[in-house]
Amino acid sequence: MPIVVSLCRYAIRVASLLAPTGFRAEWARDWNTEIWHGYASLAGRGASRSKARRKLLCFAAGAFSDAADLRRSAFNPEAALGRPAFCLAVPLLVLSVVFLASHGFRNCREMIAGTAVPQAQNLVLLSRSARVMGIEAVPTEEDLRAWLRVDRQVALAGFELKGNELHVTANFYDVLGVTPHVPFRFAGHEVEAIKPLDLKTGGVGVLGRLRSPIAREQLEAELSNAPSPNGGAVLTKSVEGVIREPLIFTLSTVLLSLVVGMALVREMPRAAAFFFVKTALAQAAIGAAWIECVAGPSIPPTGVNGVTTAFLMPGLLIAALALSLGYSLHDQKRRCPVCLHLLTLPVLIGSRSSIILDRPQVEVLCPNGHGSLLVPEPVVHRRDPAAWLVWNESWKSCFTLGGSK
Ligand SMILES: [Zn+2]
Repeated sequence: MPIVVSLCRYAIRVASLLAPTGFRAEWARDWNTEIWHGYASLAGRGASRSKARRKLLCFAAGAFSDAADLRRSAFNPEAALGRPAFCLAVPLLVLSVVFLASHGFRNCREMIAGTAVPQAQNLVLLSRSARVMGIEAVPTEEDLRAWLRVDRQVALAGFELKGNELHVTANFYDVLGVTPHVPFRFAGHEVEAIKPLDLKTGGVGVLGRLRSPIAREQLEAELSNAPSPNGGAVLTKSVEGVIREPLIFTLSTVLLSLVVGMALVREMPRAAAFFFVKTALAQAAIGAAWIECVAGPSIPPTGVNGVTTAFLMPGLLIAALALSLGYSLHDQKRRCPVCLHLLTLPVLIGSRSSIILDRPQVEVLCPNGHGSLLVPEPVVHRRDPAAWLVWNESWKSCFTLGGSK
Protein backbone atom coordinates (compact mmCIF):
# COMPACT_ATOMS: atom_id res chain seq x y z
CA MET A 1 0.00 0.00 0.00
CA PRO A 2 1.46 3.44 -0.95
CA ILE A 3 2.68 5.43 2.04
CA VAL A 4 0.33 8.35 1.29
CA VAL A 5 -2.71 6.06 1.41
CA SER A 6 -1.51 4.64 4.77
CA LEU A 7 -1.11 8.20 6.09
CA CYS A 8 -4.61 9.14 4.92
CA ARG A 9 -6.10 6.01 6.50
CA TYR A 10 -4.36 6.87 9.77
CA ALA A 11 -5.74 10.46 9.61
CA ILE A 12 -9.24 9.07 8.99
CA ARG A 13 -8.91 6.75 11.98
CA VAL A 14 -8.00 9.74 14.20
CA ALA A 15 -10.80 11.89 12.70
CA SER A 16 -13.32 9.08 13.30
CA LEU A 17 -12.95 9.72 17.06
CA LEU A 18 -14.89 12.95 16.46
CA ALA A 19 -17.80 11.08 14.85
CA PRO A 20 -20.68 9.78 17.05
CA THR A 21 -20.04 6.24 18.32
CA GLY A 22 -23.02 4.67 16.54
CA PHE A 23 -21.94 6.01 13.12
CA ARG A 24 -18.18 5.77 13.53
CA ALA A 25 -17.42 2.44 11.80
CA GLU A 26 -19.65 3.13 8.80
CA TRP A 27 -18.31 6.68 8.44
CA ALA A 28 -14.67 5.46 8.50
CA ARG A 29 -15.44 2.73 5.95
CA ASP A 30 -16.95 5.29 3.52
CA TRP A 31 -13.96 7.61 3.86
CA ASN A 32 -11.43 4.80 3.35
CA THR A 33 -13.27 3.73 0.19
CA GLU A 34 -13.15 7.35 -1.07
CA ILE A 35 -9.41 7.52 -0.43
CA TRP A 36 -8.81 4.35 -2.48
CA HIS A 37 -11.11 5.66 -5.18
CA GLY A 38 -9.30 9.01 -5.25
CA TYR A 39 -5.90 7.28 -5.41
CA ALA A 40 -7.04 5.02 -8.27
CA SER A 41 -8.50 8.01 -10.24
CA LEU A 42 -5.37 10.10 -9.85
CA ALA A 43 -3.15 7.17 -10.88
CA GLY A 44 -5.44 6.46 -13.85
CA ARG A 45 -5.17 10.08 -15.02
CA GLY A 46 -1.37 9.89 -14.82
CA ALA A 47 -1.02 12.55 -12.08
CA SER A 48 2.50 13.03 -10.73
CA ARG A 49 3.27 11.43 -7.35
CA SER A 50 3.71 14.80 -5.61
CA LYS A 51 0.40 16.10 -7.00
CA ALA A 52 -1.42 12.87 -6.02
CA ARG A 53 0.09 13.03 -2.53
CA ARG A 54 -0.97 16.68 -2.05
CA LYS A 55 -4.50 16.10 -3.29
CA LEU A 56 -5.04 12.97 -1.18
CA LEU A 57 -3.70 14.61 2.01
CA CYS A 58 -5.94 17.68 1.45
CA PHE A 59 -8.87 15.34 0.93
CA ALA A 60 -8.06 13.37 4.14
CA ALA A 61 -7.81 16.65 6.12
CA GLY A 62 -11.46 17.31 5.20
CA ALA A 63 -12.41 14.18 7.19
CA PHE A 64 -11.95 16.11 10.47
CA SER A 65 -14.51 18.81 9.64
CA ASP A 66 -16.87 16.18 8.19
CA ALA A 67 -16.71 14.11 11.42
CA ALA A 68 -17.28 17.26 13.51
CA ASP A 69 -20.30 18.20 11.35
CA LEU A 70 -21.71 14.70 11.80
CA ARG A 71 -21.37 14.94 15.57
CA ARG A 72 -23.03 18.37 15.59
CA SER A 73 -25.98 17.18 13.56
CA ALA A 74 -26.38 13.99 15.62
CA PHE A 75 -26.34 15.86 18.95
CA ASN A 76 -29.73 15.63 20.65
CA PRO A 77 -29.94 17.68 23.88
CA GLU A 78 -32.98 15.78 25.14
CA ALA A 79 -31.24 12.44 24.65
CA ALA A 80 -28.11 13.77 26.38
CA LEU A 81 -30.08 14.96 29.44
CA GLY A 82 -31.90 11.63 29.62
CA ARG A 83 -28.73 9.55 29.72
CA PRO A 84 -27.95 7.87 33.06
CA ALA A 85 -24.51 9.50 33.01
CA PHE A 86 -26.11 12.95 33.29
CA CYS A 87 -27.50 12.04 36.76
CA LEU A 88 -23.99 11.17 37.89
CA ALA A 89 -22.33 14.16 36.23
CA VAL A 90 -24.43 16.80 38.05
CA PRO A 91 -23.50 15.80 41.64
CA LEU A 92 -19.88 15.26 40.54
CA LEU A 93 -19.87 18.82 39.17
CA VAL A 94 -21.32 20.15 42.46
CA LEU A 95 -18.69 18.19 44.42
CA SER A 96 -15.94 19.67 42.23
CA VAL A 97 -17.23 23.22 42.76
CA VAL A 98 -17.44 22.70 46.55
CA PHE A 99 -13.96 21.14 46.49
CA LEU A 100 -12.47 24.16 44.71
CA ALA A 101 -14.39 26.75 46.76
CA SER A 102 -13.52 25.14 50.10
CA HIS A 103 -9.75 24.69 49.60
CA GLY A 104 -10.12 20.93 49.10
CA PHE A 105 -12.87 20.21 51.68
CA ARG A 106 -10.93 22.03 54.40
CA ASN A 107 -13.62 21.71 57.11
CA CYS A 108 -14.10 17.99 56.41
CA ARG A 109 -10.35 17.42 56.62
CA GLU A 110 -10.09 19.35 59.89
CA MET A 111 -13.00 17.41 61.36
CA ILE A 112 -11.35 14.10 60.44
CA ALA A 113 -7.94 15.22 61.74
CA GLY A 114 -9.32 16.66 65.01
CA THR A 115 -7.36 19.21 67.04
CA ALA A 116 -3.59 19.19 66.80
CA VAL A 117 -3.01 19.74 70.52
CA PRO A 118 -1.41 17.36 73.01
CA GLN A 119 -3.85 15.03 74.82
CA ALA A 120 -6.85 16.53 73.05
CA GLN A 121 -9.07 13.85 74.61
CA ASN A 122 -8.71 15.69 77.97
CA LEU A 123 -10.07 18.97 76.59
CA VAL A 124 -13.69 19.82 77.33
CA LEU A 125 -16.02 22.74 76.68
CA LEU A 126 -18.40 23.70 79.47
CA SER A 127 -21.93 25.09 79.24
CA ARG A 128 -25.11 25.25 81.28
CA SER A 129 -28.31 23.44 80.33
CA ALA A 130 -31.04 25.91 79.41
CA ARG A 131 -33.59 23.16 80.26
CA VAL A 132 -35.36 23.70 76.91
CA MET A 133 -35.12 20.79 74.46
CA GLY A 134 -31.38 20.34 74.68
CA ILE A 135 -30.55 24.02 74.17
CA GLU A 136 -27.47 25.08 76.08
CA ALA A 137 -26.64 28.42 77.69
CA VAL A 138 -23.26 30.11 77.34
CA PRO A 139 -21.54 30.30 80.77
CA THR A 140 -21.05 33.71 82.40
CA GLU A 141 -18.24 35.31 84.33
CA GLU A 142 -19.94 34.23 87.61
CA ASP A 143 -20.06 30.62 86.40
CA LEU A 144 -16.37 30.64 85.55
CA ARG A 145 -15.38 32.14 88.93
CA ALA A 146 -17.64 29.70 90.81
CA TRP A 147 -16.24 26.67 88.92
CA LEU A 148 -12.67 27.80 89.51
CA ARG A 149 -13.33 27.90 93.27
CA VAL A 150 -14.83 24.39 93.38
CA ASP A 151 -12.71 22.07 91.34
CA ARG A 152 -8.99 21.50 91.25
CA GLN A 153 -9.14 18.45 88.93
CA VAL A 154 -9.74 20.56 85.87
CA ALA A 155 -7.87 23.65 84.64
CA LEU A 156 -10.34 26.20 83.29
CA ALA A 157 -9.82 29.12 80.89
CA GLY A 158 -12.26 31.64 79.44
CA PHE A 159 -12.37 32.76 75.80
CA GLU A 160 -14.53 34.68 73.39
CA LEU A 161 -14.27 35.00 69.60
CA LYS A 162 -15.14 38.43 68.18
CA GLY A 163 -14.75 38.37 64.43
CA ASN A 164 -11.16 37.34 63.82
CA GLU A 165 -10.02 38.36 67.34
CA LEU A 166 -9.76 35.73 70.05
CA HIS A 167 -10.14 37.22 73.53
CA VAL A 168 -8.69 34.87 76.15
CA THR A 169 -7.81 34.66 79.85
CA ALA A 170 -4.09 34.58 80.65
CA ASN A 171 -3.97 30.79 81.11
CA PHE A 172 -5.89 29.94 77.90
CA TYR A 173 -2.90 28.66 75.92
CA ASP A 174 -1.61 26.66 78.91
CA VAL A 175 -4.97 24.93 79.13
CA LEU A 176 -5.13 24.41 75.37
CA GLY A 177 -1.57 23.07 75.38
CA VAL A 178 -0.06 25.16 72.56
CA THR A 179 2.13 28.25 72.41
CA PRO A 180 0.32 31.47 71.40
CA HIS A 181 0.62 32.23 67.70
CA VAL A 182 -1.32 33.90 64.89
CA PRO A 183 -2.81 33.17 62.45
CA PHE A 184 -4.41 30.34 64.37
CA ARG A 185 -7.42 28.07 63.59
CA PHE A 186 -9.68 27.51 66.56
CA ALA A 187 -12.71 25.19 66.20
CA GLY A 188 -13.01 25.95 62.49
CA HIS A 189 -12.52 29.72 62.93
CA GLU A 190 -9.63 31.82 61.65
CA VAL A 191 -7.96 33.81 64.46
CA GLU A 192 -5.80 36.75 63.39
CA ALA A 193 -5.30 38.53 66.73
CA ILE A 194 -5.21 37.48 70.38
CA LYS A 195 -6.40 39.91 73.09
CA PRO A 196 -7.02 39.72 76.85
CA LEU A 197 -10.58 38.71 77.74
CA ASP A 198 -12.74 41.24 79.56
CA LEU A 199 -14.79 39.10 81.94
CA LYS A 200 -17.40 41.82 82.28
CA THR A 201 -18.73 41.20 78.77
CA GLY A 202 -21.34 38.61 79.72
CA GLY A 203 -21.20 35.12 78.24
CA VAL A 204 -17.82 33.51 77.75
CA GLY A 205 -16.68 30.19 76.35
CA VAL A 206 -15.09 27.99 79.02
CA LEU A 207 -12.37 25.54 78.01
CA GLY A 208 -11.26 22.92 80.51
CA ARG A 209 -8.39 20.42 80.60
CA LEU A 210 -8.84 17.43 82.86
CA ARG A 211 -5.81 17.04 85.11
CA SER A 212 -6.68 13.54 86.27
CA PRO A 213 -8.68 10.75 84.64
CA ILE A 214 -11.97 11.90 86.12
CA ALA A 215 -15.27 10.86 84.49
CA ARG A 216 -17.09 13.74 82.78
CA GLU A 217 -20.30 12.86 84.65
CA GLN A 218 -18.50 13.23 87.98
CA LEU A 219 -17.03 16.58 86.94
CA GLU A 220 -20.45 17.81 85.79
CA ALA A 221 -22.00 16.82 89.14
CA GLU A 222 -19.27 18.61 91.13
CA LEU A 223 -19.48 21.81 89.07
CA SER A 224 -23.29 21.80 89.12
CA ASN A 225 -23.09 22.06 92.92
CA ALA A 226 -20.89 25.18 92.76
CA PRO A 227 -22.73 28.19 94.22
CA SER A 228 -23.47 30.45 91.26
CA PRO A 229 -26.30 32.93 90.59
CA ASN A 230 -27.10 31.07 87.35
CA GLY A 231 -29.17 27.91 87.51
CA GLY A 232 -29.06 24.85 85.27
CA ALA A 233 -26.92 21.75 85.31
CA VAL A 234 -23.37 22.00 84.03
CA LEU A 235 -22.69 20.15 80.76
CA THR A 236 -19.28 19.15 79.44
CA LYS A 237 -18.52 18.15 75.85
CA SER A 238 -15.30 16.81 74.44
CA VAL A 239 -13.65 19.38 72.15
CA GLU A 240 -12.89 16.62 69.64
CA GLY A 241 -16.56 15.60 69.71
CA VAL A 242 -17.77 19.18 69.15
CA ILE A 243 -15.46 19.62 66.16
CA ARG A 244 -16.48 16.28 64.58
CA GLU A 245 -20.20 16.59 65.36
CA PRO A 246 -21.25 18.00 61.91
CA LEU A 247 -19.29 15.29 60.07
CA ILE A 248 -20.69 12.43 62.15
CA PHE A 249 -24.22 13.86 61.88
CA THR A 250 -23.89 14.18 58.07
CA LEU A 251 -22.48 10.66 57.61
CA SER A 252 -25.14 9.04 59.77
CA THR A 253 -28.00 10.97 58.07
CA VAL A 254 -26.69 10.14 54.58
CA LEU A 255 -26.30 6.46 55.54
CA LEU A 256 -29.85 6.33 56.91
CA SER A 257 -31.18 8.03 53.79
CA LEU A 258 -29.40 5.49 51.53
CA VAL A 259 -30.75 2.54 53.53
CA VAL A 260 -34.31 3.95 53.26
CA GLY A 261 -33.81 4.58 49.52
CA MET A 262 -32.54 1.04 48.85
CA ALA A 263 -35.46 -0.41 50.82
CA LEU A 264 -37.96 1.59 48.73
CA VAL A 265 -36.50 1.25 45.23
CA ARG A 266 -37.06 -2.51 44.59
CA GLU A 267 -35.14 -2.81 41.31
CA MET A 268 -33.09 -5.44 39.50
CA PRO A 269 -29.41 -5.48 40.59
CA ARG A 270 -28.11 -3.28 37.74
CA ALA A 271 -30.81 -0.63 38.13
CA ALA A 272 -30.49 -0.83 41.93
CA ALA A 273 -26.72 -0.28 41.66
CA PHE A 274 -27.34 2.76 39.44
CA PHE A 275 -29.87 4.10 41.95
CA PHE A 276 -27.38 3.60 44.80
CA VAL A 277 -24.51 5.38 43.00
CA LYS A 278 -26.76 8.21 41.77
CA THR A 279 -28.28 8.78 45.22
CA ALA A 280 -25.00 8.40 47.10
CA LEU A 281 -23.29 10.98 44.85
CA ALA A 282 -26.16 13.47 45.22
CA GLN A 283 -26.23 13.02 49.00
CA ALA A 284 -22.44 13.29 49.23
CA ALA A 285 -22.60 16.58 47.28
CA ILE A 286 -25.30 17.95 49.61
CA GLY A 287 -23.46 16.74 52.73
CA ALA A 288 -20.13 18.22 51.60
CA ALA A 289 -21.77 21.56 50.70
CA TRP A 290 -23.52 21.62 54.08
CA ILE A 291 -20.33 20.96 56.05
CA GLU A 292 -18.23 23.42 54.04
CA CYS A 293 -20.76 26.25 53.60
CA VAL A 294 -23.25 25.96 56.48
CA ALA A 295 -22.13 23.82 59.40
CA GLY A 296 -18.35 24.23 59.46
CA PRO A 297 -18.21 28.03 59.64
CA SER A 298 -21.10 28.02 62.14
CA ILE A 299 -19.56 25.70 64.73
CA PRO A 300 -20.02 27.89 67.79
CA PRO A 301 -16.53 28.75 69.07
CA THR A 302 -17.89 28.27 72.59
CA GLY A 303 -19.15 24.78 71.66
CA VAL A 304 -22.55 25.81 73.02
CA ASN A 305 -25.55 24.91 70.86
CA GLY A 306 -28.25 27.53 70.39
CA VAL A 307 -31.46 27.26 68.37
CA THR A 308 -29.62 27.74 65.05
CA THR A 309 -27.04 25.01 65.54
CA ALA A 310 -29.31 22.63 67.46
CA PHE A 311 -32.37 22.78 65.17
CA LEU A 312 -32.23 25.01 62.09
CA MET A 313 -28.94 23.81 60.58
CA PRO A 314 -29.56 20.06 61.11
CA GLY A 315 -33.14 20.59 59.86
CA LEU A 316 -31.81 22.20 56.68
CA LEU A 317 -29.57 19.18 55.99
CA ILE A 318 -32.33 16.66 56.71
CA ALA A 319 -34.76 18.53 54.41
CA ALA A 320 -32.20 18.74 51.59
CA LEU A 321 -31.32 15.02 51.86
CA ALA A 322 -35.00 14.01 52.00
CA LEU A 323 -35.80 16.10 48.90
CA SER A 324 -32.83 14.62 47.08
CA LEU A 325 -33.88 11.06 47.99
CA GLY A 326 -37.47 11.77 46.90
CA TYR A 327 -36.28 13.11 43.54
CA SER A 328 -33.93 10.14 43.11
CA LEU A 329 -36.82 7.68 43.63
CA HIS A 330 -39.08 9.68 41.27
CA ASP A 331 -36.33 9.80 38.62
CA GLN A 332 -35.80 6.03 38.87
CA LYS A 333 -39.45 5.34 38.04
CA ARG A 334 -39.11 7.36 34.82
CA ARG A 335 -36.22 5.27 33.47
CA CYS A 336 -35.97 2.22 31.22
CA PRO A 337 -35.11 -0.84 33.37
CA VAL A 338 -32.66 -2.10 30.70
CA CYS A 339 -30.56 0.93 29.62
CA LEU A 340 -31.67 3.35 32.42
CA HIS A 341 -32.35 6.10 29.87
CA LEU A 342 -35.29 8.41 30.66
CA LEU A 343 -38.48 7.18 28.97
CA THR A 344 -39.65 9.61 26.33
CA LEU A 345 -42.05 10.25 23.40
CA PRO A 346 -45.27 10.32 25.48
CA VAL A 347 -48.38 9.42 23.44
CA LEU A 348 -51.90 9.79 24.80
CA ILE A 349 -54.09 6.76 24.13
CA GLY A 350 -57.65 6.03 25.25
CA SER A 351 -60.36 8.60 25.69
CA ARG A 352 -61.19 11.02 28.48
CA SER A 353 -64.86 10.55 27.64
CA SER A 354 -64.67 6.80 28.33
CA ILE A 355 -63.03 6.44 31.71
CA ILE A 356 -64.22 2.86 32.23
CA LEU A 357 -64.03 1.14 28.79
CA ASP A 358 -61.17 3.08 27.21
CA ARG A 359 -59.53 4.94 30.00
CA PRO A 360 -56.97 7.58 29.08
CA GLN A 361 -53.37 6.45 29.45
CA VAL A 362 -49.99 7.69 28.33
CA GLU A 363 -47.51 5.42 26.59
CA VAL A 364 -43.86 6.33 26.98
CA LEU A 365 -41.03 4.63 25.10
CA CYS A 366 -37.42 3.80 25.72
CA PRO A 367 -35.45 5.85 23.12
CA ASN A 368 -33.15 2.84 22.66
CA GLY A 369 -36.10 0.62 21.71
CA HIS A 370 -36.12 -1.65 24.78
CA GLY A 371 -39.82 -1.33 25.49
CA SER A 372 -42.77 0.86 26.31
CA LEU A 373 -44.66 1.72 29.44
CA LEU A 374 -48.36 2.40 29.88
CA VAL A 375 -49.23 4.68 32.73
CA PRO A 376 -52.52 6.26 33.82
CA GLU A 377 -52.71 9.67 32.21
CA PRO A 378 -52.42 11.93 35.27
CA VAL A 379 -49.25 10.18 36.40
CA VAL A 380 -47.05 10.48 33.36
CA HIS A 381 -43.69 8.62 33.35
CA ARG A 382 -44.17 6.39 36.37
CA ARG A 383 -42.82 2.87 35.86
CA ASP A 384 -44.80 -0.03 37.27
CA PRO A 385 -42.99 -3.36 36.55
CA ALA A 386 -46.32 -4.97 35.61
CA ALA A 387 -47.00 -2.32 32.96
CA TRP A 388 -43.58 -2.63 31.26
CA LEU A 389 -43.81 -4.28 27.82
CA VAL A 390 -40.58 -5.74 26.43
CA TRP A 391 -39.91 -5.29 22.69
CA ASN A 392 -37.76 -7.57 20.53
CA GLU A 393 -34.53 -6.60 18.76
CA SER A 394 -36.20 -5.67 15.47
CA TRP A 395 -37.62 -2.46 16.97
CA LYS A 396 -34.21 -0.97 17.72
CA SER A 397 -33.54 0.11 14.15
CA CYS A 398 -36.59 2.43 14.34
CA PHE A 399 -35.03 4.51 17.12
CA THR A 400 -32.39 7.20 16.90
CA LEU A 401 -30.41 5.84 19.87
CA GLY A 402 -30.96 2.21 18.85
CA GLY A 403 -27.24 1.47 18.52
CA SER A 404 -26.46 1.89 22.23
CA LYS A 405 -27.27 -0.75 24.82
ZN1 LIG B 1 -33.90 1.16 27.30
